[in-house]
Amino acid sequence: MRSDPVRRTILAMDTVMNLTVCQNGKDITMDKALDELTACINTLDKELSATGQESPIYALNHAQGGWTALSERGCDLLDRALALCAATGGALDLTAYPAVEAWGFPSGEYRVVSPDECAQLAGRINYAAVERKDGQARLPEGMALDMGAVAKGYAGDILAARLGEMGITSALLDLGQSSIQAIGAKPDGSPWRVGIQDPDSEGYLGVLSLSDCGMGTSGNYQRFFEEDGVTYCHIIDPAAAAPAQTGLSSVTVVSPSGLLCDGLSTALFVMGLDKATQFWHDHPELGFDALFITDKGKIYLTPGLADSFTLAEGEQREVTVLS
Ligand code: ADP
Ligand code: MG
Repeated sequence: MRSDPVRRTILAMDTVMNLTVCQNGKDITMDKALDELTACINTLDKELSATGQESPIYALNHAQGGWTALSERGCDLLDRALALCAATGGALDLTAYPAVEAWGFPSGEYRVVSPDECAQLAGRINYAAVERKDGQARLPEGMALDMGAVAKGYAGDILAARLGEMGITSALLDLGQSSIQAIGAKPDGSPWRVGIQDPDSEGYLGVLSLSDCGMGTSGNYQRFFEEDGVTYCHIIDPAAAAPAQTGLSSVTVVSPSGLLCDGLSTALFVMGLDKATQFWHDHPELGFDALFITDKGKIYLTPGLADSFTLAEGEQREVTVLS
């Protein structure tokens, strides 16, 4: 007997998440499966948060140069994310956190940081200075890191694996719009349809058809403040210790790995369209596709998304397939 999908909305990782499960597992009901996913995400949130005072990451940032024990998953994510920082030439840099804080993003007490202070902050950003051994990590004094750019995507991978163990092959995990994990396809076998937000309005400008993959979006409309007509977003260019302004409004990355989607969407946003396109050319081994929306509203996508992307009805925008 087929039952209706079960949906649950939870608040975690500072965002609203919508989890949809479409079938019972081998030995588990949809409701119980959602209980497990919720518990799992709450644990990850506690382990990976930079602001929660019980979090090992918070402890690491306040250890004044000392070694700090992280959770097993904290270590796993840190190692993988640091590798991605290196692969992106530091466009992704977890240690951008002092700049994230100086601009007021975690607290909401926003301010425009002076060029002098930015130069000083930039000197404290360097993912290569993070040390790792056994279950521990160490940061030079004065440095701090956060997993904000990668945690939701990583959580998507963990939850997808958990669903696989339960024998659930049809589910959609929306971990706060910016990280989606599509497990299998819809119960009727058609792909999941995920909206791509229009950076300039509340609505969607198009839809991506996805099955069995992750999707991550980084946009300058997700968290930002405005001062004197300038918009400052929560994605920091680590080299400048200032909000990235590269002519992009959003970057969406599609790949099997949620972590890669999340980390790369942030990194490609920092790179801007030209460097990001070059990066895509140079790294076929990463196996990802991307969709870029410029601040002029133009859309660029890699060929792998040409068939899965459809503009919303009434949209007249230019869509260019990169080559
Ligand atoms: P979202 O949280 O909306 O999904 P991102 O995945 O792009 O957006 O992550 C942005 C968060 O990552 C910021 O709030 C900040 O904590 C952190 N961050 C900002 N810039 C960088 C960067 N260049 N590298 C690594 N982390 C960053
Ligand atoms: Mg990200």
